[in-house]
Amino acid sequence: MSKIAFIGLGHMGLPMACNLVKAGHEVSGFDLVPSALEQLVAAGGKASNSARDAIEGVQIVVSMLPASRHVEGLYLGDDGLLSYIQAGSLVLECSTIAPDAARKVHAAAAQMGIEMLDAPVSGGTAGAAAGTLTFMTGGAAATLEKAREILAAMGKNIFHAGPAGAGQVAKVCNNQLLAVHMLGTAEAMALGVANGLDPSALAEIMRQSSGGNWSLEKYNPWPGVMENAPASHDYSGGFATELMTKDLGLAQEAAQSTGSSTPMGSLALQLYRLMIKQGKGKLDFSAVQKLFVE
Ligand code: NAD
Repeated sequence: MSKIAFIGLGHMGLPMACNLVKAGHEVSGFDLVPSALEQLVAAGGKASNSARDAIEGVQIVVSMLPASRHVEGLYLGDDGLLSYIQAGSLVLECSTIAPDAARKVHAAAAQMGIEMLDAPVSGGTAGAAAGTLTFMTGGAAATLEKAREILAAMGKNIFHAGPAGAGQVAKVCNNQLLAVHMLGTAEAMALGVANGLDPSALAEIMRQSSGGNWSLEKYNPWPGVMENAPASHDYSGGFATELMTKDLGLAQEAAQSTGSSTPMGSLALQLYRLMIKQGKGKLDFSAVQKLFVE
């Protein structure tokens, strides 16, 4: 059993923290939203009044925040959390952020004698709840071995992508591909339905054929095809369109910095930006289905 501080109890962080509680760890959590803290307490965790409070007496810190600026704001600077975390502690930073931002936090942590992994995840809110997330980690291999038991309480597949920042690079590549196959799936679903097919029948045919992909397997964007998918619940919960847009922006930055050609990622970014312009930024990212039917 370990004492763990968990900062950021949103769609992903809360179920991840609850799985750490279930695995027998003592979890003190902090989020800016009081109802998130109440839910952690109901699951057996402890609510803290601030991130500083949460890290009192712990040697493992997990964070799950929206974007780079939140993570840099939490950890860096004279009054940042790294100045207060005990030397020898382990920081597992699970948010999806810019690889360079992750490297900045890694460098500052190393100066303080704190071990860190960038450990972004894949698997969505369902994977977070089921404890079946995929972790893509960047940092020292020895640090991953120290973290493995904690990560295993929240995820099923744990990969070492490479040195500091490599987990984030893997994550932006994955999410660019996710956006592209979600858009392709939504476009094909709309095409088939417009031409008289039943959406469930079409979804099943494509799922079991060469067009099969994760969106068809787990997250069909057409309402009513999959009972548990956000599409069947007015696109609520899940992975916000604005977060996907952020990740596509990170992918474009990575492409820019290396001169990589990413036309599909670039088009996906434009279409997701359009969703935000249409006021759909808070909807799950599978709501791109609406681009093809409204
Ligand atoms: P979310 O917006 O639901 O949760 C973020 C939480 O962080 C919020 O509850 C917010 O109040 C809290 N927060 C922000 N600043 C804080 C601070 N300074 N101190 C404490 N709490 C703070 O987002 P999410 O969907 O849980 O995503 C979190 C991260 O995981 C993002 O980087 C996202 O890209 C990534 N991600 C999300 C999914 C998904 O399916 N939702 C899947 C994989 C990865």
